[in-house]
Amino acid sequence: GGRDTTWLVHVTPDAGRIVLTFEDRTAAEAVGQFRRDFVANVSHELRTPLTALQGFIETLRGAARNDAPARERFLGIMERETARMTHLVDDLLSLSRVEENERMRPATAVEFGPLVAATLADLEPVIAASGVTVTLTDDSGRAEVRADANQMRQVVGNLIENAVKYGASGGVLNVTLDAPAPHRVLRGEGVALHVQDRGPGIAAHHIPRLTERFYRVDTHRSRALGGTGLGLAIVKHIVNRHRGRLVIDSTLGQGTTFTVILPLA
Ligand code: ADP
Repeated sequence: GGRDTTWLVHVTPDAGRIVLTFEDRTAAEAVGQFRRDFVANVSHELRTPLTALQGFIETLRGAARNDAPARERFLGIMERETARMTHLVDDLLSLSRVEENERMRPATAVEFGPLVAATLADLEPVIAASGVTVTLTDDSGRAEVRADANQMRQVVGNLIENAVKYGASGGVLNVTLDAPAPHRVLRGEGVALHVQDRGPGIAAHHIPRLTERFYRVDTHRSRALGGTGLGLAIVKHIVNRHRGRLVIDSTLGQGTTFTVILPLA
């Protein structure tokens, strides 16, 4: 039951004979398929809000023309759909940027603790609006990691935003930085960041797929919350670029912990 192999056959006439050479195209085919799926997904993700916008424009011109409350409601929905498309395009750009420089290791040494604290401060309005209480425990000392600060803030921000959105409705969220320690997965010293929520948790079979582009556990919920399905794909690529590790631990009914371990600078 293995994967089918695709062979490219080259036919070359050679002094009265025909020479056949076989080239294994399986890997190239898989890349092509991945790209086609990706384009189909992006198109679908953009088509859905565009269709909705088109419908609302027609309604505003017609039935809702003289109905002020309905007009206000429809404009609100249109605003949200537009914001979601903008978010999607921003995420697509982030993804293509990380892919472009994934092989270039970041060069600047950055203190991890202040970077996490600054990201939390930026998210203060989102956190306040959600009613979630976030605690930050920083035992990292002044540990430095070699990082692209903007990208690393995106990693920390995406994990905290997800925990606020999916994991902690009205509850508590613990953000912890451990003291630097040897980590087997890094084969060296590193510093670990944990983002721990006490939300509903994620069923085990979803976990290996969470970092795939457009993979969502609950599509309706993700869309309603303005999600693009790209956040964790971006996180994974950035962590890879930093030669770090992403670990996801979750227990249904108890909560989820996302851990990022980065090698020390
Ligand atoms: P999205 O834009 O949908 O949030 P992500 O790639 O960031 O996309 O996350 C993928 C999916 O993982 C989400 O749709 C959600 O179902 C699930 N998820 C992410 N973080 C958590 C969490 N802390 N608790 C429960 N589910 C989560």
